[in-house]
Amino acid sequence: MPRLSALAILAVALLACTPAPAAQYKALIIDGQNNHNWQETTPHIKKALESTGLFTVDVATSPPQGEDLSNFKPDFASYDVVVSNYNGEPWPAATKSAFEAYVREGGGFVSVHAANNAFPEWKEYNRIIALGGWGGRDENWGPYVRFRDGEIIQDATAGRGGSHGTRHEFPVVIRDASHPITRGLPNKWMHAQDELYDRLRGPAEHLIVLATAYSDPSTRGTGEHEPMLMTIQYGKGRSFHTTLGHDAVAMQCAGFITTLQRGAEWAATGEVTQAVPHDFPGPDAVKLR
Ligand code: ZN
Repeated sequence: MPRLSALAILAVALLACTPAPAAQYKALIIDGQNNHNWQETTPHIKKALESTGLFTVDVATSPPQGEDLSNFKPDFASYDVVVSNYNGEPWPAATKSAFEAYVREGGGFVSVHAANNAFPEWKEYNRIIALGGWGGRDENWGPYVRFRDGEIIQDATAGRGGSHGTRHEFPVVIRDASHPITRGLPNKWMHAQDELYDRLRGPAEHLIVLATAYSDPSTRGTGEHEPMLMTIQYGKGRSFHTTLGHDAVAMQCAGFITTLQRGAEWAATGEVTQAVPHDFPGPDAVKLR
């Protein structure tokens, strides 16, 4: 083989090893009010998104509780995905309508843990998250959604919306392995110590339950397989809902991080290009990062 061709092959090989292009998607995390430690958890969410190499991440922090929110107007429309770590006072009407339009017109949204406690009075937000808890939610918000006898069912039984038992480690079970977010993941993984949300209820429209966890009465649970990971279609928009992520410990779980990363990419683009990481937990042991 002539020397020049060998050099050319080397050059092509080197080009193939050049670093990946800069992050191509823009993510916005919303925080500022939460009954959880958002100052501690937002950096975990930000790091998870940035470490994919797919996202640049901004954070929009609202004024504290009790202060004037009338100027809190994040520019949702300039982002590919909005991630809520917010559980606080109602947003101004203009901010709410801008958010609804953003998702309806094809924007991506991710609801993390107590973000599904937020805005019980906001009908469209409840449609975007499909299920929520607390804030007076009851049967008027919609059914419970559970995995029973091999299928996802809706249960219109009257009762409160939202509760959880004692914090513990628990297995999360994939119920739809065909979705881009869950494709290739182990069927079951042991999640780090977290709150296992139960009795969530809401409109549950255009909802796909990707994963559930058994809410064991021995940890003061419901005895039901409760939704943990979900997707919701809202207009042209995609919403990914993870009930996981109470605190920094829960957010260090490799399973939480991976499903958040994949859910955010899917919400932004409709696809998932990320490989399943080598440290994704199996059914028996928690894997923290
Ligand atoms: Zn919590």
